[in-house]
Amino acid sequence: MLEKEKLFLWRIELAKAWKKLATKFVLPTSMCKVCFKEISPQSWLHLAHPKAKICSACFRSFSPHFKAIKLDGVTGLSIYSYDEVIREKLYQLKGCFDQEIAPVFLDFFRRELHWNFRKFVAVPAPSWEGDNQLREFNHVVEIFKVLGLPIQMALVKTEHIKQADLNFEKRQEVSQRIELSANANLKGKYVLFVDDVLTSGATAKACIHLLQQAGAKKIRFLVMAKTEKPKEKRKKETNENINTGIR
Ligand SMILES: [Zn+2]
Repeated sequence: MLEKEKLFLWRIELAKAWKKLATKFVLPTSMCKVCFKEISPQSWLHLAHPKAKICSACFRSFSPHFKAIKLDGVTGLSIYSYDEVIREKLYQLKGCFDQEIAPVFLDFFRRELHWNFRKFVAVPAPSWEGDNQLREFNHVVEIFKVLGLPIQMALVKTEHIKQADLNFEKRQEVSQRIELSANANLKGKYVLFVDDVLTSGATAKACIHLLQQAGAKKIRFLVMAKTEKPKEKRKKETNENINTGIR
C-alpha cells in the first residue's frame, strides 16, 4: 500500500474515533433552543463552540452586523440589526416569557465580548419591576449574563411606559423617568451600559448621563440590536438638514 493511501485510511479511522468519542463522552447531544432539533456535536460550529445553545442552521439565520456607535461622545457597539429574526426571537423572550431562548443572542460572541469588557461592570437598561415580576425574569439581564461580567442594577424606571407605543417626542420624555438606584455603587468604575434594542437613543443617552453623574470612570455601551432608520425618513432628515444648514 502506498504511503499516501495509508495516511488517508489512518485519517478516516481517526475521524471515526473522534466522532464516537464526541458523541459518547466528550460532547453530549443537546437540543437547539430555537428549533428544538438535536444539535450535532460533530458540526464545525460546535467543535469551535462546544457549549453553543443553537444548531448550525439556526445560527445561520442570525446575521450579526457589528456597528460602532457614538452617543454624546460615548462609544458603543451594536451586534445585530433589528431585523425580522431578532424581532421574532425577542418577542419569544419578552412577550412569550421564553426565558430559555435568552442566551442564543450573544452566545457565539461571549468569549470575545467578555475579553473586550473584562474590566467592566454591566449596568442593564432599567425595566419596569412589574414586568419583571410578571415574567419572573429581567430579559436584559438574561440576554447579557452569558458574557460573565458582574451585573449591577444601578438604574431604575420610575413609571411604567411601553416604549414601542411611543412617538419620537414621547420617547424623549421617557428619559426623564429614569433614576439612579439608591444602591448604585459605580464611583471610579468601568461601566458597560447594556440594552436589548437601541431605537432613538434617547433612553440610552439619559442612562449614560446618570452613569456619568454616579462617578463612573469610563463608560461604554453595548446593545444587542439597533433599529435602522427607514430610507424615506433618512432622506427627509437629510433634506431638512440641508435646508437648515446642519450637516
Ligand atoms: Zn435550530
